[in-house]
Amino acid sequence: MERIYIKDLSEHKDKEVTIKGWIDVRRDQGKMIFFDFRDMSGKVQGVVLPNATEALEAGSNVRPEWVVEVRGKVNKRPDNAVQEGKLNGDIELEILSINVLNEAETPPFDIEGDGKEINEEVRLRYRYIDLRRGRMQENVRNRHEMTHFVRDFYKKEGFTEIETPNMTKSTPEGARDYVVPSRVEQGKFYALPQSPQQYKQLLMTAGFEKYFQIARCFRDEDTRGDRQPEFTQIDMEMSFVEQEDVMAINEKMLIELVKTLYPEKKIQETPFPRLTYKEAMDKYGTDRPDLRKDKDNPNELAFCWVVDFPMFEKTDDGGWTFTHNPFSSPQPEHVNDLVEGKNTENILAAQYDIILNGSEIGGGSIRSHKPDVLRKVFETMGYVKERIDENFGHMLKALASGTPPHGGIAFGFDRMVMLLQDEPNIREVIPFAKTGEGKDLMMDAPAEIDQKQLDELKIKITKDK
Ligand code: ASP
Repeated sequence: MERIYIKDLSEHKDKEVTIKGWIDVRRDQGKMIFFDFRDMSGKVQGVVLPNATEALEAGSNVRPEWVVEVRGKVNKRPDNAVQEGKLNGDIELEILSINVLNEAETPPFDIEGDGKEINEEVRLRYRYIDLRRGRMQENVRNRHEMTHFVRDFYKKEGFTEIETPNMTKSTPEGARDYVVPSRVEQGKFYALPQSPQQYKQLLMTAGFEKYFQIARCFRDEDTRGDRQPEFTQIDMEMSFVEQEDVMAINEKMLIELVKTLYPEKKIQETPFPRLTYKEAMDKYGTDRPDLRKDKDNPNELAFCWVVDFPMFEKTDDGGWTFTHNPFSSPQPEHVNDLVEGKNTENILAAQYDIILNGSEIGGGSIRSHKPDVLRKVFETMGYVKERIDENFGHMLKALASGTPPHGGIAFGFDRMVMLLQDEPNIREVIPFAKTGEGKDLMMDAPAEIDQKQLDELKIKITKDK
């Protein structure tokens, strides 16, 4: 018999149907047994009536989380038992037979509630069960809605989604790299990208003009509540633009996303207010100000842009380093100072960050598209010619082969989903999240590898066990 999804049951009133799913709840009342069944589409109440002898026997053996195929009749509930506003609140499945497709061990924890009271390590270890809870299902499904909204938006605006490699060379975003040893070239390593930064700029050289990607990024940082070793960016780049153009299209994306997917939420102010870095620091003491007027209201969204960041900051040993991204360009009126090597502390970058409710959800810049300007950035940071050529020679060469003016931005997608789903940390919106120490407790990663694998890679572990 054709399987009917639980959400569609009310279209089959007075008919016999087959559903497939999980036993969500079972309440044995002796003569009758009540159930809630669950599939990907929703839940429905079922009942085994006293005269259904066979179903009664089957029904008394099954347990929550068992996987079943149930044949039953869709009955209207009596008026006094109707639950208004609830999926299938007006129907009940009269169970005729239960066929067990798979049994289940008693779950390690309850999946009925929001799970916030359960030890997180246990939830992560049994993530495949934790993900069954309604809150997690909603987080994952709404994340999917956002992914597709973003894809549609940029596609409609003429952007091409282009994948870039995960096995690459170090990209200087300021964190430690994760590395992958090469078997073929012993002693050499790939680095996992901290972002697609260089590739997306090279795609501008290549003439794509409008690129985006929902990209996985890897940074070996000490993890915190809202960080993970691997995370997802909405990454975009465009050619022949100025700062205003990049900000405008992305502001439009965010406003439309909220209106479409979170209509109950209110954006406090549009166009998004703008603060210079200096204003933000002077007024709020942070470059991520929380501008919400009512911080208790989860439906209040206060976006703002922070602009005019210093291009360089002092290092501990008295030199200079980039504040955001070495590929950022100085603002047009500051390019001369950079090239002439003067006034370094006052050079402003064409850099913009986007803040939501006090969290930085994205940042980007107009890039240096002329090779001599980019070279000067590295020189300002004290890099010698050999180091510049070895690490960034390919970028300088690309800039010297017909690269248009360009700029872009990247959003921390996990953080965006977290804020819009009103979750306290990004692990709640990452299906298979790692712990604060970067462990995948379910797969037990990181883990040792076979001696044979180490031998093939010619790697010797020197750490004492
Ligand atoms: N690649 C930068 C980052 O990951 C974002 C950008 O400038 O587009 O922070």
